[in-house]
Amino acid sequence: MEQLEIGIVGAGLGGLAAAVSCALAGHTVTVFEAARELAEVGAGLQITPNASRLLRQWGLKDAIQPLVAEPTLLAVHRYADGKILAEERDFDKNIRHKYDAPFIDMHRVDLQRVLAERALSLGVTLQLDSRVSSIQATTLGPVILLKSGREVRCDLVVGADGLWSKCRESMLQKSDEPLPTGDLAYRIVLEVDKINDPELRSWVESPQCHFWIGPYSHAVGYSVRAGTMYNLVLLCPDDLPNGLSRTAGSVSEMRALFAGWDPILTRFLEQVDQVDKWKLMHRAEVESWTNPQKNFVLIGDSCHPMLPYLAQGANSSIEDGGVLGRLLSHVKTKHQLPWAIELYESLRKSRSEKIVRETFHQRDAFHMPDGPEQQERDRLFASQLGAPVSQKFPSRWTCPEVQPWLYGYDAYLEADKAVKLNPYKSEDRL
Ligand SMILES: Cc1cc2nc3c(=O)[nH]c(=O)nc-3n(C[C@H](O)[C@H](O)[C@H](O)COP(=O)(O)OP(=O)(O)OC[C@H]3O[C@@H](n4cnc5c(N)ncnc54)[C@H](O)[C@@H]3O)c2cc1C
Repeated sequence: MEQLEIGIVGAGLGGLAAAVSCALAGHTVTVFEAARELAEVGAGLQITPNASRLLRQWGLKDAIQPLVAEPTLLAVHRYADGKILAEERDFDKNIRHKYDAPFIDMHRVDLQRVLAERALSLGVTLQLDSRVSSIQATTLGPVILLKSGREVRCDLVVGADGLWSKCRESMLQKSDEPLPTGDLAYRIVLEVDKINDPELRSWVESPQCHFWIGPYSHAVGYSVRAGTMYNLVLLCPDDLPNGLSRTAGSVSEMRALFAGWDPILTRFLEQVDQVDKWKLMHRAEVESWTNPQKNFVLIGDSCHPMLPYLAQGANSSIEDGGVLGRLLSHVKTKHQLPWAIELYESLRKSRSEKIVRETFHQRDAFHMPDGPEQQERDRLFASQLGAPVSQKFPSRWTCPEVQPWLYGYDAYLEADKAVKLNPYKSEDRL
């Protein structure tokens, strides 16, 4: 087998997932990360079976176990009084039974560090403090140009540099800014030891996932780090100026926006002494995620950033990494690379873009102002309470059509099936 030299730009969740899976496929991987250390950026993440299945396949089960919380209930509440609109009890058991993989909640940095350690153990080189300026195409292969002036030639470059991707600009050969979605997120993490209220403490210590849905806004809360930390995200209309994507938020302004909501939520908000405000961005779909030479690809938020309303941004970035690495495990000579990259794009692009669209549909369903449409939605919710949901459902989290499509995805199986259906032929050579 000819080993490929793979350069990955960005050590976020997508980049590290790709690093692990490409290294497991037998290739030589270097990751270039702009940050000086893998520090606490972001907050909690819900990791759904489509990604937790891959984490298990990569041998991470034991490393992540002490860091996760596995919700036993998923409930959707009316914002004003906390009335339960939809709920699934034994959520943990049902999910494992249906998908043979868990739904787990983690702090982003915990997952990032576990992936980084696994990548290092597989021989991946992780270069921190290495900001990439652009990717250049040459006849000898793509070249990563670092801000320091260094140039690194690779067989394949993977652009995993997130929402503000430089790789995407190199791919499109023009500057290309993300677009506002119209919403923003207040992201909060609370440590259980600092919470005095016994009822709130028991919420944190018994992992569950709760949504509160209201006009133009919703909130989601769940435990992370084995029930020692609570992650709360408040989603509401964006009032940040253009060009400002993240800033410290005002706690009093945040409380005022959610005043009059379910008392359990507002009591959690009373515990908050600092909060970050994130503008939620997305991007127009691009025609292709690969260059014509098929030796430069995009993954993750660089090509499919989405609203976090289905918690799929990181999960689908991990899927990207899984599929890419698995396809590359079938590449035995460099000539086969374009074939594998074409398969990567055909497997990943339509699915991820469909997930992006679903996140906007979820916003429509969760953010309805009070009125006849909301009453109709709540009647539908009520008709399915107390039994397994049996029809298309406004909460895609438990919808019998959307949930299996999202969580049932097996990245390695999809890659293997694609290879079987489209085996490499020597005439595929560019
Ligand atoms: C409020 C909120 C809640 C969310 N909740 C969830 C959730 O529950 N579940 C979920 O799956 N997703 C969630 N997401 C989305 C998720 O965080 C992202 O989709 C995911 O992190 C994208 O991964 P990525 O690797 O593509 O990009 P990132 O994680 O952004 O990583 C990009 C990396 O590239 C580095 N980088 C950037 N530019 C350069 C450069 N020029 N050179 C070198 N390195 C560079 C960055 O420093 C960073 O480390 C949420 C997002 C938000 C805003």
